[in-house]
Amino acid sequence: MSVFSAPAWDSHELVAFGSDARTGLRAIIAVHDSTLGPGVGGCRMFPYASDADALHDVLRLSRGMTYKSALAGLPMGGGKSVIIGDPRRDKTPALISAMGDFVHAQGGRYVAAEDSGTGVEDLRRMAGRTPYVSGIDDNEHGGDPSPSTAYGVFLAIRTAVQHRLGVASTSGLRVAVQGLGHVGYHLARHLRTDGAVVYGADVNPANIARASDELGVIAVDPAEILSLEVDVLAPCAMGAVLNARSIDTLRAGIVAGAANNQLATAEDSARLQGHGILYCPDFLINAGGIIDVHYQRAGLPAEAKRAHIERIVDTLAEVLHRADVTGRPSNEVAEALAVEYLRDAARAPRATELPGRAAPAAR
Ligand code: NAD
Repeated sequence: MSVFSAPAWDSHELVAFGSDARTGLRAIIAVHDSTLGPGVGGCRMFPYASDADALHDVLRLSRGMTYKSALAGLPMGGGKSVIIGDPRRDKTPALISAMGDFVHAQGGRYVAAEDSGTGVEDLRRMAGRTPYVSGIDDNEHGGDPSPSTAYGVFLAIRTAVQHRLGVASTSGLRVAVQGLGHVGYHLARHLRTDGAVVYGADVNPANIARASDELGVIAVDPAEILSLEVDVLAPCAMGAVLNARSIDTLRAGIVAGAANNQLATAEDSARLQGHGILYCPDFLINAGGIIDVHYQRAGLPAEAKRAHIERIVDTLAEVLHRADVTGRPSNEVAEALAVEYLRDAARAPRATELPGRAAPAAR
């Protein structure tokens, strides 16, 4: 397994491999870019088929976090961690505590949050070993950032339908939600309240039953959800669902969902554009969760957080406008905008370089 020449390497600042024989922990922490602050991002637990798959995932995810935080205007860099293992089988309190020690060993360059396979309870356990954990406070924000993610994605869907179909709400539109977990459930709730007809699929029967019973979501076979004839497809399960094979079968005019790394490869953005599909970049529209984490960490009020999440759609409108004007795929435009923000931030004087604090001129 190569590291420095890994396909997703992209000049990561830090990649740390941690293991603990006593608890069976095998984990990787990656920090992509700390121009704007420490690398903040979720800790994912997943039964990766190989170490190379785990490395690939953590590198892509942490890079996505850099762009996500930059576009959301947050003072945070991009980081992510993965624990190799099945959360249902391999997760133990001792293993999670060992992960807390591993996070702590990075000295604050990485700050962990929850992700698929981990939850607030796990993060609280890690917090027993390190202060570099976020999204666990029992305050007005409620801890779990998923409702904020869902709210941002919902607003993005409204912006996308306005842009593509010229309608102000999703009322009467058909939306397919893949994955009715933490985010997908709340997204479906917003959509139903807005009047959309929501189709949903989940590999976990309990989640689909809850969404059907409580929200009136129409259950669909997981094998069919991506190719449903709908106005909007919202992937809210796993990454890489938009690939050469699946894109040919899509029948939605808009793709806008919460899942990280929906595009399997960089070329898939152009592939979607070639099929006339409007794609809302995942790292732009699913930033509600990381915005929530920031407000929790900083102890800022929920009202200001909501207003911040609502600004996601201003950035989305800018990206869709630039994509229309330049003819470039939306994902490329969003990445370029994030790089622009990072470049501006890198040029701005740091606190130690401010005029009042400048080192005395050399004699
Ligand atoms: P989750 O694990 O709670 O929900 C995912 C759901 O997808 C589960 O119910 C699972 O059973 C289902 N699923 C898995 N494979 C499926 C398949 N092939 N077909 C249909 N359903 C399937 O995770 P979540 O917190 O809701 O996050 C969903 C996605 O959004 C993830 O990719 C995550 O990285 C991303 N995301 C989450 C947040 C957040 O705040 N939770 C923030 C940003 C991005």
